[in-house]
Amino acid sequence: MLTSIVGINWGDEGKGRMVDLLSEEYDIVCRYQGGNNAGHTVVNDRGKFILNLLPSGILRENVVNVMGNGMVIDLEHLHHELQRLRDGGIIITPANLKISDKAVICMPYHRLLDCLEEDRLGDAKYGSTRRGISPVYGDKYMKKVLRMGDLLHRDIYTAILENLVAYKNLIIQNVYGSEPVSYEEMLQWLDTYAAEFKDYITDVSLYLNQAEQEGKKIMFEAQLGALRDIDFGIYPYTSSSSTIAAYAPVGAGVPNLKLDHVIGIMKAYSSCVGEGPFTCELFGAEAEALREAGGEYGAATGRPRRVGPFDAVASRYGIRIQGCTEIALTKLDVLSYLEEIPICIHYELDGKIIDEFPYPALLTKAKPVIETVKGWHCDISKCRTKEDLPKEALDYVRRLEQLAGCHIKYVSVGAERDAYIIL
Ligand code: GDP
Ligand code: MG
Repeated sequence: MLTSIVGINWGDEGKGRMVDLLSEEYDIVCRYQGGNNAGHTVVNDRGKFILNLLPSGILRENVVNVMGNGMVIDLEHLHHELQRLRDGGIIITPANLKISDKAVICMPYHRLLDCLEEDRLGDAKYGSTRRGISPVYGDKYMKKVLRMGDLLHRDIYTAILENLVAYKNLIIQNVYGSEPVSYEEMLQWLDTYAAEFKDYITDVSLYLNQAEQEGKKIMFEAQLGALRDIDFGIYPYTSSSSTIAAYAPVGAGVPNLKLDHVIGIMKAYSSCVGEGPFTCELFGAEAEALREAGGEYGAATGRPRRVGPFDAVASRYGIRIQGCTEIALTKLDVLSYLEEIPICIHYELDGKIIDEFPYPALLTKAKPVIETVKGWHCDISKCRTKEDLPKEALDYVRRLEQLAGCHIKYVSVGAERDAYIIL
């Protein structure tokens, strides 16, 4: 059985939390795209963990975790992330972590180039996490990167690196007028991490195909959401990879396999970190109250997230693009402080009411059309069944389900593993 867990919105829907919960029934969890620009917060009986590169199944002893070819991996960051988890008592060995030989290495100079370009853009910046993600994906398609498999052969990576550093320095010096990077330092960096990670690097495509043949259950974990997808998101304020479910088999290493389920993680309100159009955005005291209630500060960067009401237009689009078979609605408890809850049910664009998500460049002109529903105004974080929920809370969920056009199967009412309801 193959299931993909994906974001319906702008990211930070609580994918990590739901993967941690739902992976109980799975043998393998694979991350299939992105890098350490992701921040997935998982709270369970072993503590609170922030995962950037590692699949969220890493916190379960019986789950094998795979980092797929669609990922870009900053080895220095991975080293520190593993260290943090091991300090928290998590055991990680080549038996429960496998890194694709075809995953791309995010080098220190990619971080540098990300910063140089954001600084050059000034006020027109993309709102990058400055972790090198867009430069390294650009280089992947320019065919100017090292991949994990190269690390298994020193003669190969030494030769590739020499070419790459010469090429990158042309850009760093002549385009940005910055200091060149040192080949010796980059080589030392690679030598260090080649030694650390060599036993984790493998042909995960073969591994996953064999696992599937043996009847193992495989879960694919996305980073970010539909609206940050490089093709279908709010381009150019997207991530640089494909965040959608259809890419999961490709980015994990099994393009020959088909997904059985796509679980869309959808937030009970909206949040968006970084730049770009965000039609339903709230400002001032209203935004402040929602941000506080939801703890909306980036897990990877600490940046305050922009917030707004649930956006039916964007969410329905996200569900369509993802091809969801069911939805997990997260953070319903956050709205408990409101007496009345706003929902964005349409957009108004050039004087017309629209229900389909427009071409991204037109979004700056779109205005939200708001409906207000009655809140429940009490603590629901202890509710564990549908019957425990106040009528207004269940009505709100049903209204979102109707607007979204997809069955809501799970509702989460807290960050802890067991704080959820099955509808
Ligand atoms: P991801 O990037 O999609 O994995 O989401 P993040 O981890 O960046 O952001 C979700 C945040 O909400 C995390 O801090 C979670 O611990 C928290 N969270 C997840 N589900 C719930 C929920 O149902 N209620 C509350 N209050 N917090 C939640
Ligand atoms: Mg996140």
